Amino acid sequence: MTNLEKVLGGLRDFDFSGKSKRARYYTFISRLLEHIHGKIPAERYDTHKVASPTDIREEIFNGVNYKRAVMFLLSNGCEWALKEGHGCTMCGHLAKQTRTADTVTTAEYLQQFNEEFDKIDFKNFPLLNLYNNGSFFNDKEIAPEARLEILKRIGREKDIKMVVLETRPEFVTEGNIKEVKEILPGKHVEIAIGLEIKDDLYRAVCVNKGFTLRQYDQAAEIIVRNLHLRTYVLLKPPFLTEKESIDFAVEVIEYAFDRGCRTVSLEACTVQAFTLVDYLYESGLYNPPYLWSIIEVVKRVKVPDKQKLIVGLFQFYPSPSKTPFNCERCSENFLDAIRGYNRTLDKRFFDDLSCECKEKWQETIAADVPPFEERLETAAEKLSAAIS
Ligand code: SF4
Ligand SMILES: [Zn+2]
Repeated sequence: MTNLEKVLGGLRDFDFSGKSKRARYYTFISRLLEHIHGKIPAERYDTHKVASPTDIREEIFNGVNYKRAVMFLLSNGCEWALKEGHGCTMCGHLAKQTRTADTVTTAEYLQQFNEEFDKIDFKNFPLLNLYNNGSFFNDKEIAPEARLEILKRIGREKDIKMVVLETRPEFVTEGNIKEVKEILPGKHVEIAIGLEIKDDLYRAVCVNKGFTLRQYDQAAEIIVRNLHLRTYVLLKPPFLTEKESIDFAVEVIEYAFDRGCRTVSLEACTVQAFTLVDYLYESGLYNPPYLWSIIEVVKRVKVPDKQKLIVGLFQFYPSPSKTPFNCERCSENFLDAIRGYNRTLDKRFFDDLSCECKEKWQETIAADVPPFEERLETAAEKLSAAIS
C-alpha cells in the first residue's frame, strides 16, 4: 500500500460522492496544511503595533478614483487557519500572526488601531480597508468591545466615505451587520467575503475554504439588506487548469453580481510562503495564472450597472514570492493596463495588448490535460510523502 493509499484509501476512483472519501480527503489536506504551518518559524510580535504599516492604494468609488488606506491589524490569526481546518490553500496570513494561545486584548487592538488611525489624513485618503487577516466579526478573533470602539471611531471621522471589512460568512448575523449600519450612518460600508469558487466541491478541494455556497448566500442576503457586499474571487487555485480557472472565475463573478454584490474583486492566486500553493509550486505542481487570463476574465464578464469588478494587484500580506506573469517583454504593460482599468473600469485599456506570448497562453488553454481526479491524484501522491 502506498503512502497515499494509507492516507486516502486510494484516489483512483475518487468521485467525491462518497462521504467517507471526501472526509478522508479533508483529513489529508488539513494534515498537510498543519504540517506546512508547523514549519512557520516562531517570531515575537509587539501586539500593541499593527502587523504592517498602513498601505496606500487606489480604488474607484462612485466614478471617482480615490486613494484608500489599507490597515492591517495584528491578530492571533484566522480561526479557520488555527483550528481543525488549518486554513485555505493559498492564504499566507498565518505566517505573520502571533498564533499564541492568548488572544490579542481589546486594549492592544485599540492601541494598534488608534495609533495608525491618527496617522491617516482621511481628506486625502477617504476610503478605509480595515483588515485583521481573518474575520472582523468573529468574537474569538476580535472581542466585541474592541470591534465596537473601532467602529465608533470610524463613525466619527466625517471624511471617510467608504469602509471595507472582511469576514467569513458564518460570522455574519443580522445583529452585527445592523450594528455596523447604525454606527456608520452615511458611510458606504462593504462587507467582504472570499467566496473564491462557486462550486462547493471545487471550493472545498482546491481552496479548503470550509464553508458552503449556502452559507455565502445567507450572509450575502443579510449584508445586501443592510449594507453592501464585496466578494473575492480566486483565479487559479491549485489543481485547476488555466482554462478551468477562467471559466470558474467568470461563473462565480456573475453569480456574485446576481446575488446583489456591489463589488467583486478578482484576486489572482499568488505564491505566499508556508501555504499549500507554495508547496505545490516548489514541487513543480503549480504556477500562478497568466496575466492574459486575468484580462480574459474581465473581458468576458458583463458587469451590471452600479456594480463593479476590480482586479487585485497581488498586494497580499505577507508579500508573495511569485505573482501572475506573462513574459519579460509584456508583463509590465499588462499590469499598467490593469491599473488603468481599475482606475476607470474601462475595458478599452485591454484593447491594444499584444505580445508573442499570447500563443503560448492559448496553447496552455487548449492543452489536453488529464481529468481533475487524475491530476489531483498525481499531486496527492507527491504530497503524501510530506506527511507520512
Ligand atoms: S483566506 Fe481568509 S478564511 Fe482562509 S485562511 Fe486566510 S484569512 Fe482565513
Ligand atoms: Zn508577453
